[in-house]
Amino acid sequence: MSFLSSLLSGPARADDRLSVSLMLTYSCQLKCGYCQVLQRGSRITKKVIDGAVSFLGRSAKKKLELKFFGGEPLLEFELLKYAVTQAQRRLGAKKDLQYCLVTNGIGLDAAKIAYFKGLPSQVVFSFDGGAATHAAFRSGPGGNSHYKDISANLRLLAASGAYFFVNVVVSPENLRALRRNLEHIAGLGVKRIQLCYNGAAFWSGPDIMRLVRTLSAFRKSPAGKKVSFLNSSGDSEPVALKTDLIVDTDGLVYMDGAMFMEKRFPGGRRHFFIGEAAGLGRPEDVYADRREHLRRWRKVCACAEEKKVFLSSLKTGAALGLLFRGPGKQTAPARAADRRIF
Ligand code: SF4
Repeated sequence: MSFLSSLLSGPARADDRLSVSLMLTYSCQLKCGYCQVLQRGSRITKKVIDGAVSFLGRSAKKKLELKFFGGEPLLEFELLKYAVTQAQRRLGAKKDLQYCLVTNGIGLDAAKIAYFKGLPSQVVFSFDGGAATHAAFRSGPGGNSHYKDISANLRLLAASGAYFFVNVVVSPENLRALRRNLEHIAGLGVKRIQLCYNGAAFWSGPDIMRLVRTLSAFRKSPAGKKVSFLNSSGDSEPVALKTDLIVDTDGLVYMDGAMFMEKRFPGGRRHFFIGEAAGLGRPEDVYADRREHLRRWRKVCACAEEKKVFLSSLKTGAALGLLFRGPGKQTAPARAADRRIF
């Protein structure tokens, strides 16, 4: 199996829960160094939420997910609750609904944790490890990383029994601290981690090897044995070919790479545009598989530097696929891949 065909293979989407993300707001208390979301200041409206819930509900699938994204979605908690109320009222009786919150954790207090625990839901908590890493990579205006509050809220979440996992972002610049950061996270009682490599950075061959070796050593350590990595499940790698749909604050629907990589790849919004939620049919009719994502990424990458960064992200994903899912399901990155992808 070639590098490219191994990236495009994976479990059939037909068995998955169909997921639509809602961009609730572009505002956020933080200004993470690796953040690729352009913080525009706009937020969603009830009318757009109604249209997005209708769009999700037009799916023929029984199992559906409504995911709350930002920016920081908890800054619009009242609108988030409105979306849940509407989805429950209109779809709750006929669909198997699940919710997902992706949060920086600053506003996740006991009351909000109880709210999500009362729903069929999962919380994705963004947390990169120790205070020094947060100060360097996840600070807000004035250098405030809110670290004390965030780590206290993570402890609260871990003790609550709510279903959650931690999303850890690693960049080539902080690879040295990764082992220490993962041990720190495991020490807070976290049992599930999604390792997210910075897709806007260039990953050299030695960087990828170092990432793989660090993860491999951590997984064999006493702390690592208590943690499972979501990277090992389903079609999670490579992240660049993730096939989710997202409804923007203005009601326009995109493949989600459009906005989560927008600073580094400004062409994404144009090439990943699908249409207006209100005017579209079923989500599965506009859903695009990995092959189609790759075809559009070829258009998005407008210069040699963008191609180089994107390709290094695919290679990193392939290497993690090999690490987490084992040989035979992924092949190691190959130089020939450069020519086949671009
Ligand atoms: S990465 Fe997330 S938490 Fe950080 S600035 Fe961007 S939206 Fe905010």
